[in-house]
Amino acid sequence: TMSDAAIPKLTPMFEQYFQIKEDYKDCLLFYRMGDFYELFFEDAEIAARDLQIALTSRSSPNADYRIPMCGVPYHAAETYLPQLLEKGHKVAICEQIEDPKEAKGLVKRAVKRVLTPGTVVEDANLAAKGHNFLAALFWDEAAASGGLAWMDYSTGDWSGLSVTKINELWQWAQKMGPRELLVPDTVAVPESFALVNTHINRMPSRPAFDYASSRDRVMQVHNITDLAVVGLEKHKELTRACGALLTYLGQTQKQELTHLGQFKLLNLSKHLILDEITERNLEIFRRLDGRKGLGTLWHVLDQTQTPMGGRLLEERLRHPWRELGPISETLDAVAHFASRDSLRNEFRTALRDVYDIERLSTRIQLNRATPKDYIALRNSLDSLPRIRTILEQPDTTGGYTTADEDQGLSLPGFLARLLANWDDMFDYSDMLDRALVDNPPHLLTEGGLFKSGYKPELDELIELTEHGEAKLEELLAEEQQSSSLPKLKMKYNRVFGYFFELSNAVRESVPEHFIRRQTLANAERFTTPRLKELEEKLLEASDTRKTLEYKLFQELRDLVAQARPRLLFMADMLAWLDYWQGLAETARKWNWTRPELHSGQDITIVEGRHPVVEAVQGSSNFIPNDLRIDDKRRVLLITGPNMAGKSTVLRQAAIICILAQIGSFVPAREARIGLTDRIFSRVGASDNLAQGQSTFMVEMMETARILRQASKRSLVILDEIGRGTSTFDGLSLAWSVVEELARRSDGIRTLFATHYHELTALEGTIPGVHNMNIAIKEWNGDIVFLRRLVPGPSDRSYGIEVAKLAGVPAGVVRRAKEILGDLERKAKASGQHFEPPRPAQSLLPGVPAPEPPRQKEKPVVEAPVHPLLTALRDIDTDNMTPMDALKRLTEWKMLW
Ligand code: ADP
Repeated sequence: TMSDAAIPKLTPMFEQYFQIKEDYKDCLLFYRMGDFYELFFEDAEIAARDLQIALTSRSSPNADYRIPMCGVPYHAAETYLPQLLEKGHKVAICEQIEDPKEAKGLVKRAVKRVLTPGTVVEDANLAAKGHNFLAALFWDEAAASGGLAWMDYSTGDWSGLSVTKINELWQWAQKMGPRELLVPDTVAVPESFALVNTHINRMPSRPAFDYASSRDRVMQVHNITDLAVVGLEKHKELTRACGALLTYLGQTQKQELTHLGQFKLLNLSKHLILDEITERNLEIFRRLDGRKGLGTLWHVLDQTQTPMGGRLLEERLRHPWRELGPISETLDAVAHFASRDSLRNEFRTALRDVYDIERLSTRIQLNRATPKDYIALRNSLDSLPRIRTILEQPDTTGGYTTADEDQGLSLPGFLARLLANWDDMFDYSDMLDRALVDNPPHLLTEGGLFKSGYKPELDELIELTEHGEAKLEELLAEEQQSSSLPKLKMKYNRVFGYFFELSNAVRESVPEHFIRRQTLANAERFTTPRLKELEEKLLEASDTRKTLEYKLFQELRDLVAQARPRLLFMADMLAWLDYWQGLAETARKWNWTRPELHSGQDITIVEGRHPVVEAVQGSSNFIPNDLRIDDKRRVLLITGPNMAGKSTVLRQAAIICILAQIGSFVPAREARIGLTDRIFSRVGASDNLAQGQSTFMVEMMETARILRQASKRSLVILDEIGRGTSTFDGLSLAWSVVEELARRSDGIRTLFATHYHELTALEGTIPGVHNMNIAIKEWNGDIVFLRRLVPGPSDRSYGIEVAKLAGVPAGVVRRAKEILGDLERKAKASGQHFEPPRPAQSLLPGVPAPEPPRQKEKPVVEAPVHPLLTALRDIDTDNMTPMDALKRLTEWKMLW
């Protein structure tokens, strides 16, 4: 019938193929056939396109349909797989699991491993100095609680945190930027969540996220019987996210997870929280356009020499500290290296020979290391004693600071403690050195890995295989002589192996012991019993050698795998040392200073610079600025024309705080920083337009978040709030946001850049609000940017002058001035101007109110002075426009 014809009959092979494919629908199936991995149907079309290899087809029982296919040789798979992972595909590797020669019927096959972008361990797919995360999240609506767990499979590090708001859960997922994110099918992915590089894997909430089995899996992988050991006992949702991670690893890796480290709960109370938006706005890792490199803080900051040091720096920048202890310890260590240039230079050179010990160890543990990995490990271990010697040197260099208490005579405490636990690992570097040749082949199965002298039984085989040629030549020479056949040749081909060849010219004199193998047109080929014997011996030796070397290699692997705890210990130590020297190098290169941190709220920055703008423009073209936040100046309103440098000042303050809290020196002449628990930012250009949200909407969402989450210890930087709507709307919103920030917890530390000149009237009406502006000079109708942050409001917005600077044609500029004048006159005539809102009563200094704000620095006065009198006295009539005065009067009138 019709329908019978439509359903193609399957060959047994394709029956097997479909059975396997059924379980790996979301993967490209690499189906092993002899020396090739073959892909079929849609998989073939995808792989052929993404790998740029030929798409072919094979016939099917259904005569008019040809099955698309493509394939890669098995030994070349390693070069193709990274490309597919890079494109975000998952690949299931299906092997033949029985010897085809012994198979009855179709060879049995099974998927041995699934490669996924989030579980890569090979360097080809990994950024050396970045983590590659696989993450999972879980949200329980009824409990209003959720957890996000993330793991770098390539190092075995994993971590996570609990949150009580679903928005925060997604914010954290966004910040960690995992390559793969596991999400239970019960949780909806919000539309605003769009990370280009993240692949979302939906998983059934049961069994993957099931609590009881998650708990068991977490306990099993840690070999513990109580979740409290890893601090998860009170984190149900987080445990479920961890469980899903482990389930997914079980499904894909099909291998014991022996290399995983201990789960580390991220304790937010110990860290300065930088959400993803702030990270982006401050261009910490990427520029606003999404690119890496020049123009990012990372580019200026990173002077680490090893992948471990680089990853540690990345981790610290994502989670700076918030407690004085670790910060000042780090600053001590950075100062040590910063003040010793020759020590640092020597140390930096030595670190260059250290490879990625963490990831090498992981690959060795998972049995996925190549022989070259072992050589890289050996070279890394070789440099350990060298590095120790460098660090142990008593200090002889003058350095550039003189304040060292140790006077260069003994090692500082941190270094002495570290060196006391140092492990040269000589046993391992020596063993690897004796075992492996310097340039081993890529394949494990072909021999040639080991040095002679490593194992006596191997030496014999090496001798036989490597000197086999010579033995054959000896035999040939003997035959040539004894049979007087100087033209006798020895040749080799794959069918007959080694043979003698005689041309027809000497056909008559073939010796008796020659056995004929083949007759050609003008020559004949022979073997002899001795040749056969020798050949067999050589062949056997070569096979035995391959087998023995493979076995020895596995033994070596087991030995090195046992050293993982020692390797990780040293990797961690090197990471910290590298972190400190890297920050020291940056500090010296850019002339940064050691900040002073304290637990108060004041921030004082003397001659601060924006490290990235300075790096791009050159130090001589950058003008440093002072900044002070204290009890009287909590909310700084920074006005100035566009392009004056407002955003730069804002970001520079935030960056200096972050640098201080990772234990780094800072770009300033002096800096005293009151610890911050969280930095919020709302900066002009970070619009999610690509995600279909309007500028204004994004701006307001971010503002809402800041107002809801900012605390007394936070630092808020706001750039141009309220631009995306009509002037009055925008101004009113900006106004009330400033009021709220100034009032909350006695004032949240805020830098507020705005071109709404009207806002400057807030100074004096709300305690803590302080006007600053970025000075400009008018000169012949042009403006000159002075880039200096000075007290007081700017006098107007200079939009037209900036337009002129930008190259807007003179005619248009002239006309704009006319229009502006006209508008201003009309506005004045009709009394149409911005009506200042009635401030909340409690905000006016000294005016009685139900809960007046506490004014800390109020001068003690004997007789009560009427608050209005004080307010009057504080008015700066010289710098006040008539409109400002009118506003002020209206405000007071409204209070009556
Ligand atoms: P605004 O936010 O006021 O529009 P920006 O902070 O974006 O201005 O600064 C505009 C440009 O001015 C920057 O890109 C930078 O090149 C330059 N600039 C800003 N501050 C300084 C400074 N302190 N010294 C030198 N150049 C600066």
